Amino acid sequence: MKLSDSIEFVPGVGPSTAKQLHLLKLQTVFDLLDYLPRKYEDYSEITSIKQLRPGPVTIRAVIKHAKGHYVRRGMHITEAVVSDDSDSMRVVWFNQPYRAAALKIGQEYYISGKYELSNQRFQIMNPSAELVKDFPLNTARIVPIYKQSKTVTSNQIRKFIGACVQLLDELPETLPTWLLTKYRLQARNEAIRAMHFPESSEQLAAARRRLGFEEAFELILASQLNKLENSSESSLQIPFDERLAKEFVANLPFTLTDDQRKVVWQIYQDMQKTQPMNRLVEGDVGSGKTVVAVMAALMAIKEGYQVAFMAPTELLARQHDKTLATLLKPLGVEPHLLVGSLSASKKRAAHELIASGKAGMIVGTHALIQDKVDMHKLGLVIVDEQHRFGVQQRKTLMAKAGHMPHVLSFTATPIPRSLALTLYGELDISLLKEKPAGRQPIHTELVPVLKREKLYKSLATELSVGRQAFVVCPLIAESTALDKSSVEAVYAELHDKLLKGYRIGLLHGRLSAEEKDAIMQAFVAQKLDVLVATTVIEVGVDVPNASIMVIESADSFGLSQLHQLRGRIGRGSDAAQCYLLLDADKQPTRRLRAIESSNDGFRLAELDLEIRGPGAIYGAFQHGELDLRIVQLSDTQLLADARAAVTRFIETREDLVQYKELSERITKLRAVTNLN
Ligand code: ADP
Ligand code: MG
Repeated sequence: MKLSDSIEFVPGVGPSTAKQLHLLKLQTVFDLLDYLPRKYEDYSEITSIKQLRPGPVTIRAVIKHAKGHYVRRGMHITEAVVSDDSDSMRVVWFNQPYRAAALKIGQEYYISGKYELSNQRFQIMNPSAELVKDFPLNTARIVPIYKQSKTVTSNQIRKFIGACVQLLDELPETLPTWLLTKYRLQARNEAIRAMHFPESSEQLAAARRRLGFEEAFELILASQLNKLENSSESSLQIPFDERLAKEFVANLPFTLTDDQRKVVWQIYQDMQKTQPMNRLVEGDVGSGKTVVAVMAALMAIKEGYQVAFMAPTELLARQHDKTLATLLKPLGVEPHLLVGSLSASKKRAAHELIASGKAGMIVGTHALIQDKVDMHKLGLVIVDEQHRFGVQQRKTLMAKAGHMPHVLSFTATPIPRSLALTLYGELDISLLKEKPAGRQPIHTELVPVLKREKLYKSLATELSVGRQAFVVCPLIAESTALDKSSVEAVYAELHDKLLKGYRIGLLHGRLSAEEKDAIMQAFVAQKLDVLVATTVIEVGVDVPNASIMVIESADSFGLSQLHQLRGRIGRGSDAAQCYLLLDADKQPTRRLRAIESSNDGFRLAELDLEIRGPGAIYGAFQHGELDLRIVQLSDTQLLADARAAVTRFIETREDLVQYKELSERITKLRAVTNLN
């Protein structure tokens, strides 16, 4: 067997198992060995029967007898009596009719499982049992637990990996030798072996450190190389026109916050340079990012360049189109909307305006850059509500424009600094921390289901004085499988009963783009009192008069999602209220408590990281190719070391080409993007 062999060559893997393994993205023997455990259960300590305590345990005992029988249809029980020097005990397996015959009476076994109270007595239920004379995989050691598929269990994966141990030595090293020495890291194959077959928790910790370092090093190196490449490209210099900026600001219905002023200034500095700007503006919801984007666009348009303003959804693109039209009107600039749902003739008209260069400001979804749109004068790309713009997209842009335009991205999901430096090292980052003056903090309150009707009654009182409300539900339609509220059911209930007589709209992802737009416009124009919606309103939607939000089945949402949703209110000068409804049997979670007590997106982002732990962090990193498996983003020392190592690697101009494995991995990482 070789590392590059198909996974079907692994002993015990048949064609149907192979298919299941493919679902776990395991194609080759190499992939299998690279499939790291999700967690561990420590069964390494062997206890005598007499001294058993509740929890995960391992005993070393002889099987005295074993027999199986059906207690009733579909319920089979295998009972065995086992004994060691200290005592004997009963061990039970459910629905494993093959068990009794497989156990060898009179032989010594390792038996590992949870020793727990069940049917009024302590026993070990459904344990793993392996002959002491065999090489134990599932017992008497720190047992790795793998993510399983529908039909392939963690135990099977452990067995398959066990069948390839001899190949572990052949796993190639990926890091330069000097780096291993300098930071006292073990060889890669040793670390991977320890991850699958840890002999002690110390060994496991060392392996994790090595692999975590590697992960951080690769990520940072990839982003630094992207940064270097970006700075070697030349771009269009866009001069700063002070009079224009002043005129624009004078026409605004509000004064800019200091943060807005500062960030706009940074952007103007960037655009005057010969290297393309690649800046990310992190601003909490409602901090006023749109106007910052528009001020950047202004300078580019004034110089005769085109600006592409991209939003993640059509709903948002349409909203931006309207906001931009208002903001740019005094300057005689008209935005052009280009989205998938436009009629063919409207699309053609837009294409022509763009291709001829007559359209200066183009608003749309990401389809804008994938589309066959000719944008020869593209000077600036603005990406709203995204973390970054991948290398691939940047290449597409270059091909389109013939040069690299300036790129400005906005996100309302702030990430902690250590994380930003690791993941977004290629970006310059600006923060919008300050909220516009006059904003009152949103009052947030958890409401138990008992008080639900009362809540909607008091909502009616608020609506009758002209306030507007969002009601958010996790589902579109009622589901028998999921015990959560749906927009359809809640809409009917409010319409027929709880808010009878009020004007209620319904918004969800299954409506067509025009329908969604019409409903949004009705809500903006205050022709609707309440908008019952799914998370389609999660990002960007801006209706300042709406100042109340009710979130049904609140515990179905993640922390940053709740914060985003809540960000739809509190955008005007009215005091805003957000009510989080708990389903009947639900207790307030830590997440809900956090959202109740804080309005600060930056703080909540850190908390989210803490609650969800390393590994699976934000949704944004879970899709796409970026899957952080090991690195502890809270391990600041390790991240700092990895950063220093990258700096040295780049400064000494070490050639990636001499590290084949590393260079392949870096190439993949450099292309990672959160855009889709
Ligand atoms: P976000 O940062 O969430 O994208 P928006 O750009 O949509 O926020 O702005 C939220 C609301 O605040 C908008 O209605 C906008 O007009 C308003 N706004 C933006 N800047 C200011 C400011 N400096 N003072 C008062 N209101 C502002
Ligand atoms: Mg926004």
